[in-house]
Amino acid sequence: MGTWLSLFVVLVSIAALHRLVSAIQQHRKAKAHWTDGGFDARQLVFSEKLFRDASRGLVAKPDRGYGVGGVVTLVDLKTRSRHKVHRSDVVEISVQRVAVEADLGKQVSTIAYVVTETPDQTRKWHMVSLLSNDEVFAIKERRQRILDGRSIAHPTPRKGLCRHCAYQKECDDMERAQEAGC
Ligand code: SF4
Repeated sequence: MGTWLSLFVVLVSIAALHRLVSAIQQHRKAKAHWTDGGFDARQLVFSEKLFRDASRGLVAKPDRGYGVGGVVTLVDLKTRSRHKVHRSDVVEISVQRVAVEADLGKQVSTIAYVVTETPDQTRKWHMVSLLSNDEVFAIKERRQRILDGRSIAHPTPRKGLCRHCAYQKECDDMERAQEAGC
């Protein structure tokens, strides 16, 4: 009986040790996930926080913001099949920049990082230049005009972009309607 009890205790200890080791590995991996770009965890200003620019009607929830020399730099994680940055990423982070700057009252860098993670668990940091405030407001205005029916949306000429787009059906319907002169 004593031998079985000892064996049981040893097995439980091994299982607990295994759990502890994998928890430490996961923690290290998660930490490395965000520090690869040269940022230190102590520089983290916020993580997945909602910001609003009420006067301009902008709301954004950036993944991470790191403070270096009084300036906040935005970092956005994208899980996708390839290490690729899309223009929509730049637009999205540019909107975040305007909202964070207005809400937080701190300068936010016009340089940001997109971290792409692929199914093979590799990560790549991409430095991107963000749009100016005026460019962001122009896009917002155009979006509103389209939603109000004051402007017509034009499908992208780069059809490769449409392959995985969630609005493909709406776009095809609209294109057909335009061709039919509706
Ligand atoms: S389906 Fe429409 S909204 Fe989507 S990428 Fe193509 S043109 Fe743009």
